[in-house]
Amino acid sequence: MSFKDEIQRRRTFGIISHPDAGKTTLTEKLLLFGGAIQEAGAVKNNKIKKTATSDFMEIERQRGISVATSVLAFIYKDKKINILDTPGHKDFAEDTFRTLTAVDSVIVVVDVAKGVEEQTVKLVEVCRMRSIPMIVFINKLDREGRDAFDLLDDLEQKLGLAVTPLSFPIGMGYDFKGIYNIYEKNINLFSGDSKKNIEETIAFDSIESPELEQIIGNSAAEELRDNLELVRGVYPDFDKKSYLAGTQQPVFFGSALNNFGVRELLDCFIEIAPSPRPKKAEERLVDAGEKEMSGFVFKIHANMDPKHRDRLAFIKIVSGTFERNKPYLHVRNGKKLKFSSPNAFFAEKKEIVDISYPGDIVGLHDTGNFKIGDTLTEGEELHYKGIPSFSPEHFRYINNADPMKSKQLYKGIDQLMDEGVAQLFTLEMNGRKVIGTVGALQFEVIQYRLEHEYGAKCTYENFPVFKACWVEPSDPKNDEFKEFKRVKQKFLAKDKRNQLVFLADSQFSLQMTQQKYPSVKLHFVSEFN
Ligand code: GDP
Repeated sequence: MSFKDEIQRRRTFGIISHPDAGKTTLTEKLLLFGGAIQEAGAVKNNKIKKTATSDFMEIERQRGISVATSVLAFIYKDKKINILDTPGHKDFAEDTFRTLTAVDSVIVVVDVAKGVEEQTVKLVEVCRMRSIPMIVFINKLDREGRDAFDLLDDLEQKLGLAVTPLSFPIGMGYDFKGIYNIYEKNINLFSGDSKKNIEETIAFDSIESPELEQIIGNSAAEELRDNLELVRGVYPDFDKKSYLAGTQQPVFFGSALNNFGVRELLDCFIEIAPSPRPKKAEERLVDAGEKEMSGFVFKIHANMDPKHRDRLAFIKIVSGTFERNKPYLHVRNGKKLKFSSPNAFFAEKKEIVDISYPGDIVGLHDTGNFKIGDTLTEGEELHYKGIPSFSPEHFRYINNADPMKSKQLYKGIDQLMDEGVAQLFTLEMNGRKVIGTVGALQFEVIQYRLEHEYGAKCTYENFPVFKACWVEPSDPKNDEFKEFKRVKQKFLAKDKRNQLVFLADSQFSLQMTQQKYPSVKLHFVSEFN
């Protein structure tokens, strides 16, 4: 197969949802179609469940599962499909945001009864900002849920999407009869048999055919015709270009648990979803078809074995081919590195591979060379954009609890921050270190890992911060900027990249600051140009 064909056949995507909407179940059914797994129950749920008593080993064990499901790859109808795992738990949202920099499209799973939920809103917003093509799958149609049109409204209003249904449910819950596939013009009857892998569909060139009554009954037939008419009247036709541009989102209905409506989703997905897209580097736009390899680190996973501190860095290949034992430039530190055992991921296994293509994810063993966002190339100075930090939600001072081990502590903190576990801020005034995390759970993880992997001990102290705001650099001679820096000195810090950050202690003080210093630009995201 030619290099170009290899690129064309790749589909790298993420499934996003609020926890419990059915992401794991859908992933599993997709893998079943690909023949990558043989039975249901093979994909482990990577949910980090918060236990009442903080059981650190439990957290670690659960993190281990999430390594196994970081990338799930399979072949379906000759397409190479890479599913990137995106934790739904909000404490790990940062992880998910970063993973979204490595996908070419996403599938959004929504629970038919719950509609759009909190995490869905946040994740879809990130995708929308980046114009990532999205397909929506409304799940659990075997249960009583909300009216289909209501849900479509919800998607438009709460998520700001421009939807167009490509399938439409016939009944719901107890009365769920099946799905009309608008895209393929056929009906798929629901039998409630989860083991069934091949579905029987009945083609309907015209929905007016009296056969419809015979198959789904008079009232359901009438209702379906009315609904489809409404769909035609209200929603635009599906337009692939708009979908690829991120301005239109097709919607499917089904039940992942019953493996119903999943094939329709997958068949449409492989046809319309994009193969690896060009990616913006600071220097230029890089096309997947370029000969020279380039890729970037979007995730780093610590080894589970505390005796081996090596980590696994996940690289998304953007262009060219990644080859085993070939030297590549680590752009940030200018070193050439060779990798003798790059891992590729298949279903739940990883294995050493000689060659990987754009769209693929390669896992590299790392002893501390990589940071999230690092770029590898064949020599060109490229820096991939789009791995921003968001304001953490929780902030605490971190103190050294064992003065004999300060070196270990700082090394540990440094490496954990490189992995993206949390963010470190150093106060301008006194050099004290503040850790910011998305969820409270991470403080425990950090303390535990510092002790077990680095032999260092830390304690925390409360530090009330409402939001971290990145300060846009300004002319140092600007009087307002000077005044801001002088008055707010107590609240200013540097992040790991040495960017200036304003740690607002309340919403009120943030508003006041913005009013008082209108020319000082504050951002909730670290990347703003
Ligand atoms: P995740 O948190 O999004 O990964 O959700 P899971 O895939 O773990 O699903 C959450 C729960 O919903 C599990 O108990 C599933 O068995 C159930 N579930 C998933 N899909 C369906 C469906 O189509 N119908 C019904 N009734 N339950 C489902």
